[in-house]
Amino acid sequence: MADDKDYKLKTRLAHMGRAPEDYYGVVNPPIARTSTILYEDLAAYTDPNTEFRYGRMGNPMSAAFEGAMAELECGHKAVSTGSGLSAISLALLSYSKAGDHVLIVDSNYPPMRGFSDQTLSRFGIEVEYYDPMIGTGIADLVRENTAIIYMESPGSATFEVQDVPAIVQVAKNGGIVSIVDNSWASGYLYQPLLNGADVSLMSCTKYIGGHSDINLGVVVVANEDLYKPLKQTALDMGICAGVEDMYYALRGLRTLDVRMKRNSENAQAVIDYLQGRDEVAKIYAPCLSNHAGHEVWKRDFKGMNGMVSILLQPCTKAALHAFVDSLKLFPVGSSWGGYESLLQPQYMKSCRSAVPWSGDIETEGMVLRLQIGFEDVTDLIADLEGGFAAFHAAS
Ligand SMILES: *Cc1c(COP(=O)(O)O)cnc(C)c1O
Repeated sequence: MADDKDYKLKTRLAHMGRAPEDYYGVVNPPIARTSTILYEDLAAYTDPNTEFRYGRMGNPMSAAFEGAMAELECGHKAVSTGSGLSAISLALLSYSKAGDHVLIVDSNYPPMRGFSDQTLSRFGIEVEYYDPMIGTGIADLVRENTAIIYMESPGSATFEVQDVPAIVQVAKNGGIVSIVDNSWASGYLYQPLLNGADVSLMSCTKYIGGHSDINLGVVVVANEDLYKPLKQTALDMGICAGVEDMYYALRGLRTLDVRMKRNSENAQAVIDYLQGRDEVAKIYAPCLSNHAGHEVWKRDFKGMNGMVSILLQPCTKAALHAFVDSLKLFPVGSSWGGYESLLQPQYMKSCRSAVPWSGDIETEGMVLRLQIGFEDVTDLIADLEGGFAAFHAAS
């Protein structure tokens, strides 16, 4: 059943990555904690086709998880990693070498900018950032030695939606590997491989896990030629994921549809409320008609997730702190995709270069990212209302 691609996505989410018949009919795959795996005999040890050799290199749980994620992303095969960030670094290292040039979207997940500037460049790989709204204009940046075009759509912090199909076409014409960070859609709201992308990766820490209790990543590829260097680099670097985290990710898949529905419904109600607030200079959410890439989002994506960012009106530091600190249901914290609401300030100046971000909070306002959880939305809105009152009191 898990192999049956004819079923609709919701049906497959209930089945992918599990095989009760393999273990006494137990519904979920057992957590087999693994390092050493014993071989039947010396012949099995020397046989290159032996399925599992050592925990780090692949085990029953990674096979189940990677199979499910390849199915979710409509890909060929997957490699699991210990975090979303290691999925990014693994993918970049697998398809580049010294002397190459890589094009990276400016609205990337900020820690991947750190990896690119500090580590990739140390190994002689030239990194160039590009405007997320570039579309087919990316062709003008392609060089003889361009090895990778890296996308993230919608982007981090302000959610610019990229024209992935257009950029993928340019990559294909130049024999360049196209990679998409698909964490925002988590393989559920969008599948880049169906638009011809070579590689889709994501942080499963977010919506796949869904409960703020794991760090996990995955890289899914379109074909065997892309899989071979990816798997080899993962083996060479000793990259692997914990079996319990992968178990929780598989469990998260079963409720991905219902959770995403609730996240997005609550986010929509919060967005509606924020649109009436003078304290908010701008709202960043792909569902809004004036949002960067809104039309592309409507064309390519199935819907919204539970994230929205706001640009506060220019204000004093005291007013900013009063707003954030008076919120009870939006504690300050990194990450997103869980059942609980969060707020994270975004320091835009330090994470954009191709399209520089100017100003500071007293002249241009501060970007705050809200992750909307499953709380009653009337409580969430009342909390924000209290925040704005504190904002005015401190202004
Ligand atoms: C959080 C995040 C990551 C990194 O995931 P971790 O599991 O925290 O390492 C990568 N990409 C995006 C877009 C993210 O938001």
